[in-house]
Amino acid sequence: MFNALMVDKDAESGKTSAAVKQISVDDLPEAEVLVAVEYSTVNYKDGLCIGPGGGLVRNYPHVPGIDFAGTVEASSDDRYKPGDKVVLTGWRVGEAHWGGYAQKARVKADWLVPLPDGLDTRQAMAVGTAGLTAMLAVMALEDHGLEPGRGPVLVTGAAGGVGSVATAILAHLGHEVAAVTGRPEQEAYLKGLGAARIVARDEFAEVTRKPLESEVWAGCVDAVAGVMLGRVLKQMKYGTSVAAIGLAGGAAIEGALITPFILRGVNLLGIDSVMQPFANRERAWARIARDLPMDKLEAMVEPATLSDLPRLGADILKGQVRGRVVVDVNA
Ligand code: NDP
Repeated sequence: MFNALMVDKDAESGKTSAAVKQISVDDLPEAEVLVAVEYSTVNYKDGLCIGPGGGLVRNYPHVPGIDFAGTVEASSDDRYKPGDKVVLTGWRVGEAHWGGYAQKARVKADWLVPLPDGLDTRQAMAVGTAGLTAMLAVMALEDHGLEPGRGPVLVTGAAGGVGSVATAILAHLGHEVAAVTGRPEQEAYLKGLGAARIVARDEFAEVTRKPLESEVWAGCVDAVAGVMLGRVLKQMKYGTSVAAIGLAGGAAIEGALITPFILRGVNLLGIDSVMQPFANRERAWARIARDLPMDKLEAMVEPATLSDLPRLGADILKGQVRGRVVVDVNA
């Protein structure tokens, strides 16, 4: 028997509840690879899955945890053998399939990536889904011409998971990072990650009907959408790109006009880490090992255990988590 954070739904009231329970390997869903999980993390989607689910969780009871790192215990697939260190992010694990908030998980071999050289399992999860997404966003901006020296690069939702990793990577690559946050008390934290300056979230809070504003940003990693993305698009320099990764501030782009796309050739690049093919994942993980300083990564980490998860799941939905929460499932 081993520990797992189980979320269940009361058939009568429809209310969900989460608690650490003892389960066995026989309870796990069928798949090729059994992994002894070492670390998982708390992402925005985990907050949704620990709570009412919002359509993400298909069947209850459910084990959330959209990412994990650990050691293969058994495998019926030739690509993996017992003792191999592996990482999993995405593929709707922790949503449609039981995930990483347990001491063991059974998943498809296709969903795994070998632990990248230069990272241990804890560091890989300090990066996790949020960090992989941040790297994919930076790579997409580079593929569309971003290079140091073109001007300041904006990161929105900067004190959150994706924003923290994006800030550290961009700064390490030599970009002048402007970090947008609604939490002024996180200024020292964000500057420690390499942000050149802090921009108050309020500066983007107002919807305007102006077709364009002054050209300021050479690139942007946006975790927020909503009113903020509408404003940011109008401030992008000619021919630059925004990598849109999330919607912490709303599911629409408020107040945006077509003008930035037509008159300034701005690109809006959508980034999805969930269904990324294996080759892209490997490339992104290799870049993370190279371009994300480990001391900066360590500064982002808040440690947690399985029993902390109900509280942390609620906190992340309120935008109150800083950086990356790393869950030691064996603690
Ligand atoms: P976090 O909660 O860690 O960070 C989000 C940050 O956004 C907060 O810390 C806060 O930053 C800011 N924020 C929160 N609410 C608002 C608001 N109402 N208005 C403006 N800013 C707000 O989440 P993650 O970084 O893990 O994820 C961010 C988004 O990206 C989520 O929507 C998530 O679902 C999505 N995501 C998408 C992925 C993909 O593959 N495309 C992968 C991972 C995440 P601050 O306090 O600094 O202002």
